[in-house]
Parts: sequence; structure tokens; C-alpha cells
Amino acid sequence: MAVFFHEEDLPGDVFAPGAAIAVDTETMGLITARDRLCLVQLSDGLGDEHLVRFGPGSDYAAPVLRAVLADPGRVKLYHFGRFDIAAIRHYLGVVAAPVYCTKIASRLVRTYTDRHGLKELVRELLGQDISKQQQSSDWGGPDLSEAQRDYAASDVRYLHRLREELDRRLVREGRTALAQACFDFLPARAELDLAGWPETDIFAHV
Ligand code: MN
Repeated sequence: MAVFFHEEDLPGDVFAPGAAIAVDTETMGLITARDRLCLVQLSDGLGDEHLVRFGPGSDYAAPVLRAVLADPGRVKLYHFGRFDIAAIRHYLGVVAAPVYCTKIASRLVRTYTDRHGLKELVRELLGQDISKQQQSSDWGGPDLSEAQRDYAASDVRYLHRLREELDRRLVREGRTALAQACFDFLPARAELDLAGWPETDIFAHV
């Protein structure tokens, strides 16, 4: 198990054929059009994590990364994919689908709590502790610290295992099809965020 660091693109398709890919992003902030994409983290769930860093002024060409993200044969696993899908769409120009989102799955099965953060999910479902200390740090600098790399990698390290447990609970509660419908809508929800309806519930009456 290792964390691999790359500049501007993956060195090649480093993932197991057909495997679902856990994906997370780090940006300069929460406003996608303003706050550039600094890092994309990926894992195929077999133990390694790959970090792809983009410098200021990057052209985000990244042909290998884009091909992996756009591959319709690979499910992309996110925690709060809405944000990552928008950032990837805006900067890398691809729709990173088909989608599975552990936060949505959690909301559909863990109705006994309103705590759906990744740290909480990993703690309850997998019994492990991850640090969120580096979450709000400067991802745009020339060097990422060891702590930042570890944190970034840990954000994709548990998504496959979370999916397994969440899928069991979705089956148990009879909400698998509803979850899938929500996942399928996520790219459109991200597109609405980018197109000017970020705070609007388009299904609301008023
Ligand atoms: Mn993250």
C-alpha cells in the first residue's frame, strides 16, 4: 500500500481493469469557477492511492486522467460527489460518471443521524479514525506536506469499503433503486451548480 504522487497527469492507466475508482478533489476553495482545482486523488480500492497535482496556470490537458474519469465502464465513487463532479467538469472538461456517492447512500440509510461526514461514516461503518485536520489547508503551493498527502489519500482510501457496507444497508432498507436514481442525477445537479443554480432546489414549489 503506497501513495503515489504525479504532476499534471497519471503516468498511464494504473488501475485494475474495470475496477470502480474512488475519486476526490482538493481545490483553492468552495467556489468552483473562482477556486482552481489543485489535486485529484484516485484509488481502485486495492491499496494504492494516486495523487495528481495541477500547478497554477495548468492547462488541465491530462489525457490519461480524463480518459479514466470519463470511462463509462468504471464507476466513480465519491463522498459528496456533487462538488467533485462540478470541479472535474469545469477544469478537466469531462463528466466523471457513472457515479456512486457515499454521502447520498448514507442519507438514505442512516436516517437515525444527521452526521454524514466522511470521518463519521468511516468511524461508524468501518471502525477507523481519519484525521480531517488538513481539510482547510493551502492546496496551491509548490510543495504539499506529508500531512497533506496523507490526508488527501485518506479521502479516497475507504470509499470502496464504505460502498460495500452502504450497499448492504440499501438492500436491507429497500432503497437501492432510489439511491441509483439519485446517483444518476448527480452530473445534472453539478451542471446546475455550474450553470447558475447552485443554491436552488429545482424541485421546490417556491
Ligand atoms: Mn478531500
